[in-house]
Amino acid sequence: MHFKKNIFIYLCILFSFIQIIFAQNANYDEYIPSTNTPIKNIKLYIHVFNKDDGTGNFQNNETDHEKIKRVIIHMNDVVSNLTKPNLGIVNLIKDARIRFLCDKGMIFFHNDSYGHDFTVAKNPSLARVKSDSLYRKYIQFDNSVPKDGIHIYWGEGQKHMGQAYGIGSKKWLYQAGAYQSAKENNHWDPAALLLHEIGHCLGLLHTTEYNPPRPGNDGCDDTPTWPENTACWNGDSCTNNVMDYNACRCALTPCQLSKIHWYLNGNNKGCDIHLSVKKDWCEFDSTKNYLVSEGDLKRLEWNLKIYGNLILEKNSTFEVNGSINMPKGSKIILNQGSKLVLKKNAKIINECGDQWSGIEYIGKNGKNKGKIVGEQKQISNCINKIEFCLE
Ligand SMILES: [Zn+2]
Repeated sequence: MHFKKNIFIYLCILFSFIQIIFAQNANYDEYIPSTNTPIKNIKLYIHVFNKDDGTGNFQNNETDHEKIKRVIIHMNDVVSNLTKPNLGIVNLIKDARIRFLCDKGMIFFHNDSYGHDFTVAKNPSLARVKSDSLYRKYIQFDNSVPKDGIHIYWGEGQKHMGQAYGIGSKKWLYQAGAYQSAKENNHWDPAALLLHEIGHCLGLLHTTEYNPPRPGNDGCDDTPTWPENTACWNGDSCTNNVMDYNACRCALTPCQLSKIHWYLNGNNKGCDIHLSVKKDWCEFDSTKNYLVSEGDLKRLEWNLKIYGNLILEKNSTFEVNGSINMPKGSKIILNQGSKLVLKKNAKIINECGDQWSGIEYIGKNGKNKGKIVGEQKQISNCINKIEFCLE
């Protein structure tokens, strides 16, 4: 279970909402993941709240760490091997190209009866007050607690209830009942709920955001909505989407996945969820080049992290209007007849405090040499000077 009241007061949700209203289901197509999309590793910090006497929840021992691990593994299994959507526009992308990281050192144990008691989960407003106060007590002012991940509170007192702070936010989410389920050897129900709540953190709304009879708009045209989606619990005619109420919570549509990657690339200025991604994009990886295929015209309106080189094949054009992060030592390779166009909002940068190498021209002496159109000020952290073409 989860709650949707009171969430629109948050700025980044507002941005998401504005996009939905005014952009008519903004097109995030360029972020639909493919097998070439670098996997985004998302850091999770779990706060296990025991009672004051240290009982009532997972313990900091090997046996219980194994049980917690099973929840994370189950979520990773789901996102790496998604199920075909039962409803909506049925189009299967198997691998979401996201994974969740939660090693032993990312799990915190607190003895605090107040934090343990999530009977309040049935009252979403009160549960928010509690969650905010736990944030102040255990996260905000404690420098030893990392801030670069999604903070998850595990309390008890209700079964399968949760709420996320906001759409596109890493601040906190709570989940009640994970331990109760683990005692019954059930790790998949907590995993399904946790994945749903993380879905909100990653930018997703419920596919039927306004319950019947009001058809909702979650900003995606390919998700199952009412009346097709009756939100029944289990079976082929029921939704199996992660962002609905159902037994499986094992499907995500291309639009939902593109939205997730749009958020994780830091495109929503009011949101911080992109800061939960492990910065493995700071390290150059030659197996993860970003390619614009021969003869293609590709447009990028948003931000993008590139993990390897940016390669424009022969006679291809890449029009950029967002910021591109180039990793340390990487190059932009321009083949003959290719063109990289830096539009008004385009920037080529390195956000990791390193330098990237510059442009390499293939077929340099031919008259059909690749070119870059833009201005010097749009490029930073580059070792070599870039030669621009005036157009
Ligand atoms: Zn929800």
